[in-house]
Amino acid sequence: MQKVAIVGAGLAGVSLARAVAGRAEVTLLEKSRGPGGRMATRRAGPFEFDHGAQYFTVRSERFRSELEPFLASGLVRPWSGRVVRLGPGSEPGDAPSDTTRFVASPRMNALVKELAADLDVRTSVQVTSLERRADGWRLSDAEGGTHGPFDWVVSSAPATQTAALAPTGFSGAPALDAVRMRGNFTLMLGFETPVEPGWSGAFVEDSLLGWIALNASKPGRPPGASLVVQSTNGWAEAHLEDDGDSVRARMMEALNDLTGIDGRGAVHVSLHRWRYADTPDPAGKPFLMDEALRFAACGDWCLKGRVEAAFTSGTALAGALPL
Ligand SMILES: Cc1cc2nc3c(=O)[nH]c(=O)nc-3n(C[C@H](O)[C@H](O)[C@H](O)COP(=O)(O)OP(=O)(O)OC[C@H]3O[C@@H](n4cnc5c(N)ncnc54)[C@H](O)[C@@H]3O)c2cc1C
Repeated sequence: MQKVAIVGAGLAGVSLARAVAGRAEVTLLEKSRGPGGRMATRRAGPFEFDHGAQYFTVRSERFRSELEPFLASGLVRPWSGRVVRLGPGSEPGDAPSDTTRFVASPRMNALVKELAADLDVRTSVQVTSLERRADGWRLSDAEGGTHGPFDWVVSSAPATQTAALAPTGFSGAPALDAVRMRGNFTLMLGFETPVEPGWSGAFVEDSLLGWIALNASKPGRPPGASLVVQSTNGWAEAHLEDDGDSVRARMMEALNDLTGIDGRGAVHVSLHRWRYADTPDPAGKPFLMDEALRFAACGDWCLKGRVEAAFTSGTALAGALPL
């Protein structure tokens, strides 16, 4: 069996690994402490925050059938909380969706963790470079370790990080270089007393904020007033290198103006700076593959900055890899 290294254990990398597992010997190398990627959850004392992806939709039959056992077991559940549109000075209006909003339960990172349970995942390994030798690919990591040899290397990291690893002459380079991703600031607030705005999630209009959610309104979460407040991607793009204190202050002020919720009363306050959140300019094809170099790339950024796109990209590449 051929040996395949996959850089990144988010949904795209893990979906690819599962789909080729019977045909190849697969090793996932992940820089974080566990699988999940941007389907992420942070715990802080009694508080929990899904601080990356908020929910996902299921449009394709393939994704639905992959999720079927998890829908049956309750690991994936519909989130039926009231979601509204909110603007400065206007009353919240319902934001109906043409499709169900799903979440992993009891926390967002649970789905990828479960999908990766039987896979060979090396965590806390940040791949820094690749080298093609006569017997295959060797990967070096940030701690000075090496991994390999491998017959194939696939990067499922966000586009910029994939571009940093891609070998010279990679045929997918022009498509990769044209991808544009934007960041996001996520403010996490934990309160000792209940926060009851009358909705579970809010799309915000005409503000530097884009989204607010009550984490505990999602199924299976611990009770408690954990508020997830996300900036728009456009605002994050303009302020990505700003000092964290000033970003926090601006977001708290906007939250107070919109909802009357005063973040200064929170007993837990933290801010996460996502460098890669949405993808206004994706690659426009489900994956990039160079058969001569035996290097390929997948991830949400190939198609759309969405959970389902990450799955679609990983599984499409699995169908094409000549193993
Ligand atoms: C703030 C935010 C809000 C979002 N909201 C939604 C939403 O509501 N609905 C929705 O559908 N989608 C949403 N998304 C997008 C969704 O999270 C992504 O589309 C999806 O999780 C991407 O999966 P992926 O596997 O392609 O990438 P990732 O999840 O990013 O996985 C890539 C993995 O590669 C690892 N990695 C990177 N470089 C290296 C390296 N050099 N060595 C080793 N490992 C490396 C990373 O640590 C990561 O685990 C949101 C994203 C963010 C950030």
